[in-house]
Amino acid sequence: MLDSERLVKTFVELVKIDSVTFDEKKVADYLIDKLKKLGADVRVDSAGEKVGSNTGNVIACLPGDTSAPAILFDSHIDTVEPGVGIKPKVEGGIIRSGGKTILGADDKAGVAAILELLRSLSEQAFPRGDVEVVFTIAEEKGLLGSKNLDLAQFKAGLAYVLDGEGPVGRITLKAPSQDSIKALFKGKAAHAGVCPERGVNAIQAAARAISEMKLGRIDEETTANIGIIRGGLAPNIVPEESFIEGEARSHSPKKLRVQTEHMCQCLSRAGESTGARVDIEVERSFDGFSLDEGAEIVEFATTAMRKVGLRPKFVVSGGGSEANIFNKGGIPAVNLSVGARDVHSTREWITVADLEALVKVLIEMVRMMGSRS
Ligand SMILES: [Zn+2]
Repeated sequence: MLDSERLVKTFVELVKIDSVTFDEKKVADYLIDKLKKLGADVRVDSAGEKVGSNTGNVIACLPGDTSAPAILFDSHIDTVEPGVGIKPKVEGGIIRSGGKTILGADDKAGVAAILELLRSLSEQAFPRGDVEVVFTIAEEKGLLGSKNLDLAQFKAGLAYVLDGEGPVGRITLKAPSQDSIKALFKGKAAHAGVCPERGVNAIQAAARAISEMKLGRIDEETTANIGIIRGGLAPNIVPEESFIEGEARSHSPKKLRVQTEHMCQCLSRAGESTGARVDIEVERSFDGFSLDEGAEIVEFATTAMRKVGLRPKFVVSGGGSEANIFNKGGIPAVNLSVGARDVHSTREWITVADLEALVKVLIEMVRMMGSRS
C-alpha cells in the first residue's frame, strides 16, 4: 500500500542530497542502500567513467514471483543548478525549495515514486513479474547517462520514463530530433588601431553568419537557436577566434535536415565573405520519436491512469528525454509527467497529491503487467 508520509519523507530526503550533474554519487549510494534492503539485485554500470561523473547509472531488479512480463521504470538522479543545499518546505500539500535553489522534483519526484513503488510491492502481495528500474546520471547535460546505458541488459519490453513536467496523467507521445551545431571561426589577429587591414575579424564573421540565420520558431514542428558566443581578447585586437554553438530541433527529420543545412550554409558563407576559416561540427544529440494514442505502451499507461481516477492527457514535447534513447535503442518508451512544475528555476514546486498519484499509477501498471502471461 502507498504510504504517503513515507513517500514525502523519501522525497524530502532525496532532494536534500546534493546531486548536481556529474556529482551524483551520494544519491546513488543512498539508493543502492535502500534497494538492497528491499531485496533487489543492484548494480552500477561504467557510464560514470565515460561521461566524467563520480558514479555510474544505478540499475536494479526487484524479482517477481511469476513469469509475467517485466516492466521498466526510469528516472534521472542528477539535477540542474543552483542545486546545492536544497531546503525543501512542505506546506499545505505543496513542496517548494527555500527559494535560493531549485527544488529538484525534476527528477527526484520520479526517483521517490519508484522507491515508494518498490516498498509497497514488497509489502503488498499480488502476482507480478520482474520490476526493473534504472536511475540515470547526467541527464541534464544531454542525456549522457542513458546514452551510455546498455539497453540489452533489460528484460522489459516497455519502458516508462518518469521525467515529464506538469500534472501526473500527462503522457508525452512525440519528441523531436535534435542537432547540435558548433562553429569555430578563425580569422587573423592584428592591432586594431595600427593595422586593422591586416586582420580578419572572427567576431564579425560569426555575427554575419548569425544575422543571416533563421532562428527561433521556424514552423510548428521546428525550432532553432544560437545559445553561445565567445571570442576576442581585447578591444584593441582584431579578434582571431570566435566560437558559436547552437541547436536545431524538429519533429520532422526532413525539416531538421533542411534547418541544419541552412545554418551550416550561413556559417560557410560568412567565412567566405569575411576571409575567416570556419570549422563546423554537427552532431545528432538525440533522435525523436512519435507514438500514437493507440500504441500498446500508451494504452497500457492510460488504462492504469483511468483505473486510479486520473484523466490521461497527451502532449507533444519540444524537448528530448530519456524516452528518445529507449525508443532509439528498440525499447518502446514514453515519458510520463511526475508533477514537477516550473522546473529548472528556483520557483520549482510539486504537490503531495501528484507524488501520490504517480505512485498509484506505477502500482497499477505493475499489477496489470502481472496479470499478463
Ligand atoms: Zn528531468
